[in-house]
Amino acid sequence: RTVYVNGEYLPETEAKVSIFDRGFLMADGVYEVTTVLDGKLIDFDGHATRLARSLSELEMKEPVTKEELLSIHRKLVEENGVDEGLVYLQVTRGAADRDFAYPKDAEPTLVLFTQKKNAVNSPAAKTGISVISIPDIRWGRRDIKTVQLLYPSMGKMAAKAAGADDAWMVEDGFVTEGTSNNAYIVKDGVIITRNLSTHILHGITRAAVLRFAEVAQMKIEERPFTIEEAQNADEAFITSATSFVQPVVKIDDKAVGTGTVGPVASRLREIYLEESRKAAI
Ligand code: PMP
Repeated sequence: RTVYVNGEYLPETEAKVSIFDRGFLMADGVYEVTTVLDGKLIDFDGHATRLARSLSELEMKEPVTKEELLSIHRKLVEENGVDEGLVYLQVTRGAADRDFAYPKDAEPTLVLFTQKKNAVNSPAAKTGISVISIPDIRWGRRDIKTVQLLYPSMGKMAAKAAGADDAWMVEDGFVTEGTSNNAYIVKDGVIITRNLSTHILHGITRAAVLRFAEVAQMKIEERPFTIEEAQNADEAFITSATSFVQPVVKIDDKAVGTGTVGPVASRLREIYLEESRKAAI
């Protein structure tokens, strides 16, 4: 694979980042994952805009312009022959002597690579997934997409150990989001998902799905919900750039609705895939 590191396109085995990089030492970095379908980027603009916001919240420089970022994405997709998969992008504050205070003169590190992956024909889209609930003990700025992903990793492992696929995190009695996705339930035809705040990541797929749902004249309520409410809902699902819309059929061993993939999640997945493919660049 060809990867990108600070202005250079290199074979992955030759790509290097300093051991003093603050991304490595302190998780002082942010990232984005953009899905590729038919060799094109889904919602590139949304991801680039959120990246700029994450960087700004952490007082980090934008390493390249949005236009340059787009051309790097496109070049890697082409060079690596990615038809379906993703582009991963990470920006860190760069290398400096270890110190908790931000260094004044560090140059940001920008790394991008691609991964091929079959996402559209995922078996889980047909069967739905099961989730367990775990306490949300992450930090308080989940709206910034940082590379501090250890707790979500632990959550995925706890889910696997319990024979489930993923975990929904709960804070003060309410679901915040999934380990790497936003969480939704459907009751009496109303789509319910937690409102945006610093408690959750502002999913790019969430924004798109809610937009498409609105166009399709579906009812939406943006508010917190509990695990109990979710277990008693008609349907549940998650969204993320790489899973699109994925039905959730079981929560903490209790079937949601009929325990099978519901019509709202199926329809939203279809609309999302169709519309995002049309708008891909
Ligand atoms: N929440 C969390 C915690 C995530 O890690 C992700 C995906 N990175 C999402 C939500 C979904 O965001 P997006 O739709 O932009 O992929």
